[in-house]
Amino acid sequence: MIQVADCQSVMLYDPHQKVIANIHSGWRGSVLNIIGKCVDQMVLDFGCRPEKLLAGISPSLGPCCAEFIHYKKEIPEHLWKYKQGDRDNFDFWAMSQDQLAEKGVRKENIRNMETCTKCRTDIFFSYRGEKTVKRFASVISMI
Ligand SMILES: [Zn+2]
Repeated sequence: MIQVADCQSVMLYDPHQKVIANIHSGWRGSVLNIIGKCVDQMVLDFGCRPEKLLAGISPSLGPCCAEFIHYKKEIPEHLWKYKQGDRDNFDFWAMSQDQLAEKGVRKENIRNMETCTKCRTDIFFSYRGEKTVKRFASVISMI
């Protein structure tokens, strides 16, 4: 279980090796490709095959609300392709999907809820939307 309020929870499941992971990926984690590093670790430690992994991206800050006015200092230039036109917003969902795909996770095995936490403060906590310290939990388990 991890706790988030705008950050992504990226859940991975390898049904063959019976391995699960739950990655807390905020924008700093996205910039550092924590998702790709986790997939690499699953391969090394558990013999997982990325093409067999199932991945899910939790409700989190969407491209509609992920504004980074200081992006030139905070986000490396090779990731500026995720910037939304003239706006200083970034599509971290697409970035995560690409980071998974770059490691060999099949696009059809990636599910993104595409639910923005800042737009949906009626059902999720959003740090950006509410300046709250409250979090919601993202849980994965294996029976
Ligand atoms: Zn939004």
